[in-house]
Amino acid sequence: MYNENKHINLVWLKRDLRLKDNASIANALSDGKKVLFIYVFENLLLNDPHYSQRHFDFIKQSLVDLNKTLRNFDTQILVAQGEIISVLKTLQQHIRFTRLFSHQETGVNSTFDRDKALKRFCTNYDVEWIECINNGVFRGLRDRTQWRADWTDYMQQPLYQFTPTTGQHVSIDEIKAIQQLRWKEISLETPKSKSFQPGGVTAAHQYMRSFFEERYENYQSHISSPSLSRRACSRLSPYIAWGNLSIRQIWQQAQLEKQSGKNRFHLNAFTSRLRWQAHFIQKFEMECSMEFKSVNKGYHQLSKPVNQEYIDAWKTGTTGYPMVDAAMRCLIETGYVNFRMRALLVSFLTHHLWQPWQAAAHHLAQLFLDFEPGIHYPQLQMQAGETGINNLRIYNPVNNSLKHDPDGIFIKKWIPELRNLPTHHVHEPWKITAMERKFYKFTPGQEYPLPIIELLPARKRATDVLWNMKKNTLVKKESQRILTKHTLPNRDNFD
Ligand SMILES: Cc1cc2nc3c(=O)[nH]c(=O)nc-3n(C[C@H](O)[C@H](O)[C@H](O)COP(=O)(O)OP(=O)(O)OC[C@H]3O[C@@H](n4cnc5c(N)ncnc54)[C@H](O)[C@@H]3O)c2cc1C
Repeated sequence: MYNENKHINLVWLKRDLRLKDNASIANALSDGKKVLFIYVFENLLLNDPHYSQRHFDFIKQSLVDLNKTLRNFDTQILVAQGEIISVLKTLQQHIRFTRLFSHQETGVNSTFDRDKALKRFCTNYDVEWIECINNGVFRGLRDRTQWRADWTDYMQQPLYQFTPTTGQHVSIDEIKAIQQLRWKEISLETPKSKSFQPGGVTAAHQYMRSFFEERYENYQSHISSPSLSRRACSRLSPYIAWGNLSIRQIWQQAQLEKQSGKNRFHLNAFTSRLRWQAHFIQKFEMECSMEFKSVNKGYHQLSKPVNQEYIDAWKTGTTGYPMVDAAMRCLIETGYVNFRMRALLVSFLTHHLWQPWQAAAHHLAQLFLDFEPGIHYPQLQMQAGETGINNLRIYNPVNNSLKHDPDGIFIKKWIPELRNLPTHHVHEPWKITAMERKFYKFTPGQEYPLPIIELLPARKRATDVLWNMKKNTLVKKESQRILTKHTLPNRDNFD
């Protein structure tokens, strides 16, 4: 066993894959004890329907990147696969630890259950589990009266630096010895892909730098365009979701940029969204049943008949509405679409196709490289019109296409079947005339599907039912409860 007499501090990395501004690491290092970093590919998550290979690849890339830095300190991350409790039990046979550091996770139900079991394990095995606040989301809040002030205060605190003293880590040789004894080596290699953003702190800083240097200048003007937003938005979401950057690192950098005289209009719009990040996660932290049921109990009585054909067409980008299909196909290929396209996808499924939002939850989670449970579920319900406190927004796919992709650039990129059509036809290809069909060798319903539903009656049904429900007594009572519990005193209309 590694030095019998000395206890080490164990840092369990999860969605905080960075060294700087990492409270768990800073706290673990602060008492001078040796520190060991561990990452566990938990079977629980490998089998969870929210996760897919793209997430695990991003994590692996992040671990490789961290290891490059850690090598300078003669250490690396011990990587294991299994359940956290069995991994810890095994580890205890080789190394003594009485303190386990991690961030507070606002996760899905399976990680919540795992945390409860881990708490019991820690009590039984005399391990102190120290969970640190993550990105300004607070445990145990009853309402949001103080939240904004506390969040701002948290963002203004100095960043934690990564300053270990020499020899403060368990060495690479010792880690390799434990790893070889107990766990088969897990390859951190990932396929080379140009479609997905690469994981890791290095890439995260590159994205942040290029955003503040130049890309931010079109932030607000291009935010709704499915193609232009890919450059004008920060694209920091996967780095935030997996913790390659803390929100505080980004927020403080944004304040410096503002002080240096850069355009405040765009930067303020951006920093508001950094606050929304925690605002949404805080909701989920305070009401995690949102993973399964609408937060407003009045909507539990809303029954939408499941139509698997509709759901399959939506999932595969073959609904016959080019904007919807292009957004879905782009997401499948790249793991990213902007906010408006996400909202449009959910709106089309839940309003026009009249399907339950739950039908979108796992599919989108697997596709979003930046999947973050605490943003995902509240946003799904908000876009589905089932909170009772937000304006009902039904995105018209044709109008959005005409307005936000007027030249059909996004559509033609993701729907090759429509590439040969003149631009005015890509928004509504079913309107092509008989003569043009021959000319462009395009027959609606053959190369590309006919619209799966008619927009106007579908919209009317959704509007009628949902507006009617807003008057329902339980919906109203619940709306009041949600306002009291989840919204801020000076409410933005997004929340
Ligand atoms: C149905 C639906 C599901 C979503 N699921 C996720 C998710 O799983 N993970 C995720 O990170 N975002 C999610 N979003 C929010 C938003 O679409 C993305 O955060 C944003 O598009 C990411 O791009 P960006 O990093 O370039 O954002 P920027 O516009 O550059 O914003 C910077 C950061 O602010 C935060 N942010 C931006 N917009 C929002 C928002 N509306 N709500 C909360 N935080 C926001 C994100 O952390 C983002 O990285 C979802 C939105 C919808 C409508």
